[in-house]
Amino acid sequence: MLEREPESRSPWKSDPLGMRGLSAASVEAFYRRGMLRPLLTASGVDGDPGADGPSAPRGVGHFAGMMLDPANVDVDALPFRLPGPATEGVMTNLEAVEAVLSERASMLGVEVRRGVTVSAVAQDGERVVARAGEREYAARWLVGCDGGRSAVRGLAGFDFVGTEPQFTGYVVLATIADPGKLRPGFNLTPTGMYLRTPAEGYVGMLEFDGGAFDRSQRPTREHLQAVLRRVSGTDVTLSDVHLASSFTDRAMQTTSYRQGRVLLAGDAAHIHSPLGAQGLNLGIGDAMNLGWKLAATVHGYARDGLVDTYARERRPIGARALVWARAQTAVMRPDPHAQAIQGVVRDLLGTRDGTTYVFAHTSGSSIRYDLGGEQPLVGRNAPDLRLGDGTRLGDLMRDGRGVALDFSADRCLRGSAMRWESRMRYAAGAVRNDLGVGAVLVRPDGVVAWAGDRDPDREAFERAAGQWFGAPPES
Ligand SMILES: Cc1cc2nc3c(=O)[nH]c(=O)nc-3n(C[C@H](O)[C@H](O)[C@H](O)COP(=O)(O)OP(=O)(O)OC[C@H]3O[C@@H](n4cnc5c(N)ncnc54)[C@H](O)[C@@H]3O)c2cc1C
Repeated sequence: MLEREPESRSPWKSDPLGMRGLSAASVEAFYRRGMLRPLLTASGVDGDPGADGPSAPRGVGHFAGMMLDPANVDVDALPFRLPGPATEGVMTNLEAVEAVLSERASMLGVEVRRGVTVSAVAQDGERVVARAGEREYAARWLVGCDGGRSAVRGLAGFDFVGTEPQFTGYVVLATIADPGKLRPGFNLTPTGMYLRTPAEGYVGMLEFDGGAFDRSQRPTREHLQAVLRRVSGTDVTLSDVHLASSFTDRAMQTTSYRQGRVLLAGDAAHIHSPLGAQGLNLGIGDAMNLGWKLAATVHGYARDGLVDTYARERRPIGARALVWARAQTAVMRPDPHAQAIQGVVRDLLGTRDGTTYVFAHTSGSSIRYDLGGEQPLVGRNAPDLRLGDGTRLGDLMRDGRGVALDFSADRCLRGSAMRWESRMRYAAGAVRNDLGVGAVLVRPDGVVAWAGDRDPDREAFERAAGQWFGAPPES
């Protein structure tokens, strides 16, 4: 791994500026690699991740600054939700996420080279070479995870298309002389929006200037105070600004996620405004989806085209996040038409169906990849199924292999599954949470690749296993 920053520590990564909301789907990804406890500890969250999660979510976020009421989420309407240690989102920060992932990478023998900036990329049919500093690094594949201003994206010739910004947003850590003049939480105003967070002096705001200010100038105290006064309609005073940064709602995505031997993931492949807390969650979803496919490809057992299913599955999810980000911008615009829509949306969010609809998106539970077939579980993030002895699916996924869960009375898939033993774990027994399936095949990213009925079809299972895990190794 080549990383430009010489140091991992930065005030932009720790609280409060580095605060990030992880969706339940992202938290589940950590859980499935045995990293939930370390993540919670690093995030300063108390609680026992071994316990069954609550049946109803506690915190569900907002849409365009309009808060959702967790009591309004209809849990029964969420597809295949089962209690488990990772049914809730978590408030964390970038430092915690990076620390936990770095630990895992180092455990797996990955070397992170810091202070190394990729400045050139060349590839042929066999390999890709990245130049960084004075050195060239050759590999069979390169994944650009280098953020919204990705160098790899430009160097490898990806097209990045989308919509130009409507606003400049700011995050500011300041000494506020008269904080009582600002209302807590999200405040939509006739001129924009401001957010006063519980962290002292930490405010966010956005002003609809067409994105003109962002990065054109350094945000001075005077400028930030003027914007805050305009959007809050107060005469609040910022006596000192400690840290400040700006962003926009530019919404862009690459037209493909792969150019030859170069792939993109995270903000390198898609950018949008932070409204709705989606970017990091999208990136974690990209990484979960791509990691095992690339590993199978590098180790030579992937079926042709496996790596291309990454873009096929993840591009639509990224595109949808852009749509949600744009929708939130449109609703917040300070004009009479947008404000009229705001009223309608607020009414809808006050309903059970409205809140549940938004929550299904923000929690990640509405994600379903089109893997073909009619079975409704296939293509979804697998629920945390439990066997009669209490073993949870999540416990079986730690080493990154797939999992075959066989609930049939005669354990009929055992012989078949064992043929792929090095690539999938097999576990059998009575099922505790009966979802009406007799067996499931779960990919290493936690997605259901196949589900059988009460009398599972061995041949169908083997076809699915071959599709996702390659031809069985010679015994
Ligand atoms: C104010 C704000 C609040 C947000 N809140 C949320 C939230 O609550 N939930 C959420 O899901 N998302 C949120 N986001 C979005 C989220 O922070 C980003 O989507 C996410 O951090 C992107 O991660 P990434 O790894 O793709 O890119 P980055 O975090 O940008 O990481 C890219 C890395 O690549 C390195 N790099 C760059 N160029 C090079 C190069 N040429 N050579 C080598 N290394 C290079 C960088 O140093 C960096 O370490 C928020 C964003 C903002 C601005």
